[in-house]
Amino acid sequence: MTVIEHTELLVIGAGPYGLATAAHAQRQGMETLVLGEPMSFWRENMPEKMKLRSGPDWHMDVAQKHTMMAFLAERGMDPADVSPIPISLFLEYADWFRERAGVEVETDLVEDLTKPDGRFEATLRSGRRVTSDTVVAAPGISHFGVVPEWVERSLSPDKWTHTCDLVRFDELRGKRVLIVGGRQSAFEWSALLADGGAAEVHVVHRHDPPDFVPADWSFVDPLMDLTVEVPGWFRNLPPRRAKSRRGPLLGRRPAQARALAHPASHQPTRQPPPARFGRGVPGGGRRYTRPPLDRRRPRGGPHRARYRLQA
Ligand SMILES: Cc1cc2nc3c(=O)[nH]c(=O)nc-3n(C[C@H](O)[C@H](O)[C@H](O)COP(=O)(O)OP(=O)(O)OC[C@H]3O[C@@H](n4cnc5c(N)ncnc54)[C@H](O)[C@@H]3O)c2cc1C
Repeated sequence: MTVIEHTELLVIGAGPYGLATAAHAQRQGMETLVLGEPMSFWRENMPEKMKLRSGPDWHMDVAQKHTMMAFLAERGMDPADVSPIPISLFLEYADWFRERAGVEVETDLVEDLTKPDGRFEATLRSGRRVTSDTVVAAPGISHFGVVPEWVERSLSPDKWTHTCDLVRFDELRGKRVLIVGGRQSAFEWSALLADGGAAEVHVVHRHDPPDFVPADWSFVDPLMDLTVEVPGWFRNLPPRRAKSRRGPLLGRRPAQARALAHPASHQPTRQPPPARFGRGVPGGGRRYTRPPLDRRRPRGGPHRARYRLQA
């Protein structure tokens, strides 16, 4: 007979959000079970030499104690010396945070989650079953990678990959590489491919070129304040409003391409046309405006090559 365990809170996922949630819940005295592979997305789906976009002021501790700054100070490191932060250092911080916050992770995955009679019931890959009063699902974005249908239809499996899976670049040394897409990952991967010795890297996309300005996160704070004040406010927006809110959240992060850190190998062979700007941003900055929807829809014609990066 299967033994069913019970926990007050089940946290699904051991990435930054899962770990932060678990630490906070435990501090509030909640009995917490955390499932997942600690920081697996960062360890397995990001390039090992990647540098972070977020700075040392980003951390996982709601209580502001086990911060990245505290971690660096304990090691006698000056934040200015580790900027931008190498992913390996952030992973060390995550391990340090987990240990300091006393968050234990069980490396098992949830395969099914139901709520048959008022409480949650999770079936794990190992066959274990867990019930819980509350669930926080933080399984991350790796489940949502999109591969256009035409890629699989027109290319053999050894000819293409997704940025989620391409994290080591040596195997493409000397090769000509086409990157389809033109946001953060596209430019970051193009820089890493050039560093890894690719013969040529071409980047194609249908939208206007990104404007390569430092990321502007000023839109986040008011939304966070609103979330604290009115939990779940975004669930009740009428459809049109919901769409306009998704814009800033999902689409307007100006791409701060890592390519800029490698100017020698990343000169666009065509100068991008002037960026289009929209409404002013409080504080004097300006925010990139996405092209109207009809300009973003697939046109069925060939993609326009905007850049050619040669190693
Ligand atoms: C190229 C790239 C660069 C980025 N750079 C930055 C940056 O500089 N700074 C920054 O803050 N963010 C950055 N991000 C974004 C960052 O990766 C995500 O915001 C962050 O990882 C989300 O954290 P998470 O905890 O939600 O999920 P993840 O980090 O994706 O973790 C998911 C967790 O869920 C677990 N899991 C998955 N499925 C199950 C299951 N069925 N059962 C149990 N557990 C499960 C996994 O094992 C893992 O532990 C970057 C992302 C990419 C792709």
